[in-house]
Amino acid sequence: MVEFISYGRQSIDGEDIQAVVDTLRSPYLTQGPKVAEFEQAVADYVGVKYAVSFCNGTAALHGACSAAGIGEGDEVITSPITFAASANCVRYVGGTVVFADIDATTYNIDPTEIRKNITAKTKAIIPVDFTGQPVDIDEIMTIAKEHNLVVIEDGAHSLGATYKGRKVGTTADMTMFSFHPVKPVTTAEGGIIVTDNEEYYKKMLQFRSHGIEQVPYSPEKGGWYYEMTDLGYNYRMTDLQAALGVSQLKKLDTFIAKRQELAEHYNQALVNVEGIKIPQQLANTKSGWHLYMIQLEHANRKEVFNAMRAANIGVHVHYIPVYWHPYYRDLGYERGLCPVAEAWYEKALTLPLHPGITQENMNFIIEKLETTIHD
Ligand SMILES: *Cc1c(COP(=O)(O)O)cnc(C)c1O
Repeated sequence: MVEFISYGRQSIDGEDIQAVVDTLRSPYLTQGPKVAEFEQAVADYVGVKYAVSFCNGTAALHGACSAAGIGEGDEVITSPITFAASANCVRYVGGTVVFADIDATTYNIDPTEIRKNITAKTKAIIPVDFTGQPVDIDEIMTIAKEHNLVVIEDGAHSLGATYKGRKVGTTADMTMFSFHPVKPVTTAEGGIIVTDNEEYYKKMLQFRSHGIEQVPYSPEKGGWYYEMTDLGYNYRMTDLQAALGVSQLKKLDTFIAKRQELAEHYNQALVNVEGIKIPQQLANTKSGWHLYMIQLEHANRKEVFNAMRAANIGVHVHYIPVYWHPYYRDLGYERGLCPVAEAWYEKALTLPLHPGITQENMNFIIEKLETTIHD
């Protein structure tokens, strides 16, 4: 029996370990020089002015929603095919989530469906670069400008991916990247918002640290003086995490190249297999290939899933439509809301894809999949 092949996992080497150990021996464990260095490195990599790190990607989305001024009575449009955090962040600030259906080719939110769901209450759009494939951000920004909306791109899957030659993170008002271990690079837990907007940047710095504002030194007030001017949170990243992030970021392009190579191998092996639809890419985009997802056109998905798992192949399904979860169901969202997404979900299967997958793993997965669906 082969060792369990997970759908995604971190790639950590000796250099990464040394970076964390060095920080453990330094005077700072949290919010020291490594946090600032990591933020600068991400901002430089993406090509934006500002980056604000958080303890995880979900906290980062919360910070972005707060900075955008989303609150009670505001509607925010997102995709139903995403991790729950893309929608939950709207709920944290009291907003209402509106789910717009996906495009049947890219599985990303369909800009036409965004337009259909805009009302006088719409405040923002949270498009998700699902599987690492960038959304049609130019079209989404055009819609946002027409209706004066804020765009917070959920790039949890897409750090390093490009759209028309531009890096994800350079176009939306704010873009979130996650550093959870399965994501393109990791800090264990961690997240970041990149933006060119100074006002959002300042608001998020305050938000992630109790709402405290550093005030200029005044001799009357004393050197210890600071002010808490808003209700914030303790959502800070540690220097240990940031040290790992700095080291990991150097390998991002190599990781993506490896993911692209593996995805290409899957594509070639599966393109002519009856009953499997391989993922399609939008012209002018380069996916980060966070996930490799196929559609099982005829086979029983649960049977295929179970057979693959029995062979120690960590297939998965991303994602259950968010509004099917009991929390959202109880808020009144009903099945049938996004028919394209629901039909897509029923046939979806994630195959293992990460830089540690070997040629041998690949051949084993492909062979097992072919025999299983034709059983
Ligand atoms: C992972 C993920 C998040 C949340 O990131 P965390 O760092 O795990 O909090 C948000 N959106 C999507 C699409 C994700 O995959």
